[in-house]
Amino acid sequence: MTVIADNLTAIKDQIRTYEKRYQRKEGSVFLLAVSKNQSLKKIQQAIDAGQFAFGENYLQEALPKITTLQNNRLEWHFIGMIQSNKTRKIAEHFSWVHSVNHHKIAQRLNDQRPNDLPPLKICIEVNVSHENSKSGIAIDKVAALAEFCSHLPRIHLRGLMTIPAPSKTLAEQRKEFHTLRSIFDDLKQKGLNIDTLSMGMSNDMEAAIAEGATIVRIGTALFGPRG
Ligand SMILES: *Cc1c(COP(=O)(O)O)cnc(C)c1O
Repeated sequence: MTVIADNLTAIKDQIRTYEKRYQRKEGSVFLLAVSKNQSLKKIQQAIDAGQFAFGENYLQEALPKITTLQNNRLEWHFIGMIQSNKTRKIAEHFSWVHSVNHHKIAQRLNDQRPNDLPPLKICIEVNVSHENSKSGIAIDKVAALAEFCSHLPRIHLRGLMTIPAPSKTLAEQRKEFHTLRSIFDDLKQKGLNIDTLSMGMSNDMEAAIAEGATIVRIGTALFGPRG
C-alpha cells in the first residue's frame, strides 16, 4: 500500500463517519481529489487506489496531466479562476467546471463546448465571505446568473461552489457553508433543477458535510503538501 492509498482509505472512512453523524444519506458525498501542484506519480498512485475524479486549478498544468493519463477514463474538474482566453480549452478537456462566476464565462463555455461531448457540468462559485479579495460572484447576483445558465444548452448547471474565508472552529465553518446551502435551497424553490453543493476542503470537510456538501474537494489530506 502507498501512503496515498492509505490516505484515500482514511478520507473515505471520514466521509462515511460524517455522513452518519449528520444524518446524510450513505454515499451522498462525492470525493474530488484536488491534484494541483501534485506530481503525476502521486496522481497515478491515487488512480491505482481507485480514485477517478481529479480537480485542477491551472490550465497549463492540467493539460499535460490530462493527456498523459488519458487511458485511465478519468473525470477532470476545473476548480480555478477562469480567464476568458482559457475557456475553449477548459470546455474541450474537462467534464466539470466549479468556478463559473460571470455570464460571459458561462456563455463562452457553452459556445465552445464540443458537440461530440455531453453538456459541460458547471457550478456557480459564490463569495459567501463578503471579502473583496475572494473569488466568486456576490450573493445578490447568484439567482440571475443561475437563471441565465439554465437556458444555455451546452452547459448543465448542477449547483453552487464556495471557498469560504478560513475559520477555525466547526461552528464558524458551518456558518458560511450554511449560507451557501440557503442560497441553494432558494434556487431550488424558484424551480431550478440543481443537485450539487461543492464545498469543503481538507480543513473544513466535516463542517461542509454537516451543511449538505455533495462534493468535497480534498488536496493536502490526500496527497500531502503541494510541491
Ligand atoms: C487547492 C484547492 C482545494 C484543496 O484544498 P486542500 O486544503 O489542499 O484540501 C479545494 N478547492 C479549491 C478551489 C482549491 O483551489
